[in-house]
Amino acid sequence: MKEGIHPNYNQTTIKCACGNVIETGSTRADIKVEVCSKCHPFFTGKQKMVDTGGRVSRFNKKFGLG
Ligand SMILES: [Zn+2]
Repeated sequence: MKEGIHPNYNQTTIKCACGNVIETGSTRADIKVEVCSKCHPFFTGKQKMVDTGGRVSRFNKKFGLG
C-alpha cells in the first residue's frame, strides 16, 4: 500500500449563498457557491435580475424602466 497517491476525498458540505447546505464528497474542505440546485433559475424557474455586462441596464434604459 502506497500512500499519497489518492487525494483526500472526504465528506464535505457546500454552502450556498441562499443558505442551502449540500452534503457531498470532495477533495476540498469548505465550498461556497453563489447558486445551487435550490435557488438556481434553471431549477426554480424564476428569473433573477442578474445584470450580465449591462444588458439589463441597457434594456431598462431603452424602455424607460431604469
Ligand atoms: Zn442556493
